[in-house]
Amino acid sequence: MAKRKYTRWGEEAKRYECTKKKCKWQGRDEEKAHKRINEYQTDHVCPKCGNNEFHGLLE
Ligand SMILES: [Zn+2]
Repeated sequence: MAKRKYTRWGEEAKRYECTKKKCKWQGRDEEKAHKRINEYQTDHVCPKCGNNEFHGLLE
């Protein structure tokens, strides 16, 4: 059976991968860039392309 690469719902991700196919940035949570949404909220975004969606990686 092939080893899974991505986390399933509820599993804790060790690292993250950008969901953009052309980007595929990988890194830890603290390596993500921060983008301010408004006065109270910041979003985590990819430092390479600015995308805010990530796959969780198991290792
Ligand atoms: Zn990216």
